[in-house]
Amino acid sequence: MKDTRYIFVTGGVVSSLGKGIISASLARLLQARGYSVTIQKLDPYINVDPGTLNPYEHGECYVTEDGAETDLDLGHYERFLNVPTSQANNVTTGRIYQSVIEKERRGDYLGETVQVIPHITDEIKYRIRLLASHGKYDFIITEIGGTVGDIESLPYIEAVRQLRWELGKLAAVIHLTLVPYLAASGELKTKPTQHSVKTLLELGVQPDVIVCRSEKNLNESLRNKIAQFCNVDPSSVIESVDVETIYEVPMRMRDEKLDEVILRKTGLELSTASDMKGWEQFLFKLHNPKGEVTIGLVGKYVELKDAYKSILESFIHAGTANQCKVIVKLVHSEFITGENIAEQLGGLSGILVAPGFGERGIEGKIMSVRYARENKIPFLGICLGMQLAVIEFARNVLKLEGAHSREMDRRTPHPVIDIMESQKKVSGKGGTMRLGSYPCKINVESKAWDIYGREMITERHRHRYEFNNKYIDMFAMAGMHAAGVNPNEDLVEMIELPDHPWFMAVQFHPEYRSTVENPHPLFVHFVKAAIAYSKQK
Ligand code: GLN
Repeated sequence: MKDTRYIFVTGGVVSSLGKGIISASLARLLQARGYSVTIQKLDPYINVDPGTLNPYEHGECYVTEDGAETDLDLGHYERFLNVPTSQANNVTTGRIYQSVIEKERRGDYLGETVQVIPHITDEIKYRIRLLASHGKYDFIITEIGGTVGDIESLPYIEAVRQLRWELGKLAAVIHLTLVPYLAASGELKTKPTQHSVKTLLELGVQPDVIVCRSEKNLNESLRNKIAQFCNVDPSSVIESVDVETIYEVPMRMRDEKLDEVILRKTGLELSTASDMKGWEQFLFKLHNPKGEVTIGLVGKYVELKDAYKSILESFIHAGTANQCKVIVKLVHSEFITGENIAEQLGGLSGILVAPGFGERGIEGKIMSVRYARENKIPFLGICLGMQLAVIEFARNVLKLEGAHSREMDRRTPHPVIDIMESQKKVSGKGGTMRLGSYPCKINVESKAWDIYGREMITERHRHRYEFNNKYIDMFAMAGMHAAGVNPNEDLVEMIELPDHPWFMAVQFHPEYRSTVENPHPLFVHFVKAAIAYSKQK
């Protein structure tokens, strides 16, 4: 069994400092030295998982292979590490309490009074250590959501305090803070960092490393000041200055020797060299595109980029693979009308219709599909985007008036998208969709086959509705083909229009599987088609 090291990442001063990116960057650097690493996020809210939260509250809901609906930071972990995460990588207060209460009801506590300490903190510790139980990982990086000092994160900090004590040198704490720049006096200020470390100290946790987010570089004396006030050595004060892209952060953390500091703190040798060549090549291509292309992302949360996080990142990976800068224009589906559609979508070289739920903005999305189909613009529909491509085809090509999904119109005369059989009896909303990885068999005659280069694939899902197989022959006869089908349940997972230059739509979410090392082939080929389209325009 390995001596797994545990790194805890806490945050102070303000939220949204990028603990997820710092955690993922450190993980990537440790991986580059040959260590196996996983990252876990502990979220202090009471929802059992973020699956029921709307994107305005929480941004995108990321789905793992094993079907967990998780925080979007897990997407960053996978994109940076190229290693899948699982149910165990995201734990919320809701889930912790749920299992403690279930145990209490089963009588497992044998008459004890069930309390925050030790029962809740023990459950948190159990969830942290669980990832080490297979002996697979050299490092487990645990990111604690929220900001130190929040009432709801207290049990997590207490669990960290206890684990630190139990694990000794096998654990280290990184505290991420903000060093604000005051333009009026032209100074960087360390006081918020001092206060935030003090709050952590009151809770019994001395950070080993302090990562300072800042707009400007910290000078020597500032580092020394932070080191002195926060009881760390100056080499453990790491600056994290704003950068153009999150993919630069691992390199900046390498310059700051964050990985070396962590190895030293956890008693490991520096003997293994760091191999970040692949990453550097990716950055080189990212920063030196040979051209650019504009693709429209039609959705209803355009004011909120986090709602489409994985799609936007997939475009960065796919653009880089094509050495082309992809400019994503977010188009608000609610405001698309017959009059302004040419103006909104006219200059685009590709159109992606986003996943989603509910009625809002639906007709604008359907019009966008039609625009892409009729004008032969490369098109990718994802999940709801595929369902709407089917509806558009039914209405405008098959002339099935009033065709719709039963999600939006219970009484539609032509439910070309209908609820899945397995979903009919489901009443609860949490974790009950068709979730996670499922196999899909690709038709050898299809464009999808050329893209994937193989017959059997697996992709991740998150939906309740599906193509209605009663219509499959009618669609095929008119030119919309099922290119991929789930072999066990006969569900249509991919459709395409062979007589369109590039028109693909998928019931699954390819964006959850695109990583820096493995850009998703569907996105890579979509961008390629967009480049070809822009050249011929
Ligand atoms: N609302 C649709 C369904 O539940 C699509 C879901 C999605 O786009 N993720 O089937």
